[in-house]
Amino acid sequence: MLYLCATPIGNLEDMTFRAIRILREVNLIAAEDTRRTRKLLTHFEIHTPLIRFDENCKEIVAEKILSRLLAGESVAVVSDAGLPAISDPGAELVRLAIDAGIKICPIPGANAALSALICSGLDTSKFLFAGFAPKTKKNRREFFEKFSTFEETIIFYEAPHRLKNFLEELAEVFGDREAVLARELTKIHEEFLRGKISELIKNLDEPRGEFVVLIEGNKNSPPPEGNFLEFYQKLLEQGLDKKDAMRETAKKFNMSRREIYNKVIGYRL
Ligand code: SAM
Repeated sequence: MLYLCATPIGNLEDMTFRAIRILREVNLIAAEDTRRTRKLLTHFEIHTPLIRFDENCKEIVAEKILSRLLAGESVAVVSDAGLPAISDPGAELVRLAIDAGIKICPIPGANAALSALICSGLDTSKFLFAGFAPKTKKNRREFFEKFSTFEETIIFYEAPHRLKNFLEELAEVFGDREAVLARELTKIHEEFLRGKISELIKNLDEPRGEFVVLIEGNKNSPPPEGNFLEFYQKLLEQGLDKKDAMRETAKKFNMSRREIYNKVIGYRL
């Protein structure tokens, strides 16, 4: 059996009874950071052998893990915090294990995205987990544009030193929507900052700690393509130049000007 085992995202009391038992019982624990995990294991008096399993060595270690699983042993994967395979190593190993006919078992527990979502006050009935945005500005913009018309609450992870920049670029594409910053979840300085993106930016001095960013979905449901093109065409007929017509269309349909531009070019208008 391959176990995907959650660990706390801050507060050690979030370790589950089952996680402790499974981590004691398995033959091997594959950990993203063995030093960090060793501290956790010491705290809970778990003495199972550890192997490093991070981005740099995942292919070689995955092979080792698979051969032990195929030999009938059980292995648990843990990441630094929260659920393995969620913005953390583990997903590829799961795929390989499934292909090799090995059983997979979740050991649920703490997760930053869902903990933030349930306390956000935003719509929890439909949401999209977007994880970390790409590092380069161009890719990040394209990434945001992909999500800007979605009606679901969108959840991002972001590092504190990139947060302000991230929010500024997000607002350029999404408009000034309601957002929530969930900071240091389950830790002493846990807090939820709620407001328009622009207000959050204004109130952020030097962000410290870990953050989940949640953005309200697009409340103006995406218009059928025809409508938006018709609207744009009408503005041109009324005598607006292309730039102004694009700006007005973007405003009306709550889309970024770049999105409108791309679509307009697509339709050769
Ligand atoms: N696997 C983890 C999970 O299940 O949530 C996520 C790991 S990902 C590498 C780390 C990111 O998760 C951080 O940069 C931050 O965005 C978010 N995060 C993790 N712990 C957090 C916490 N205690 N409070 C707020 N955000 C947290």
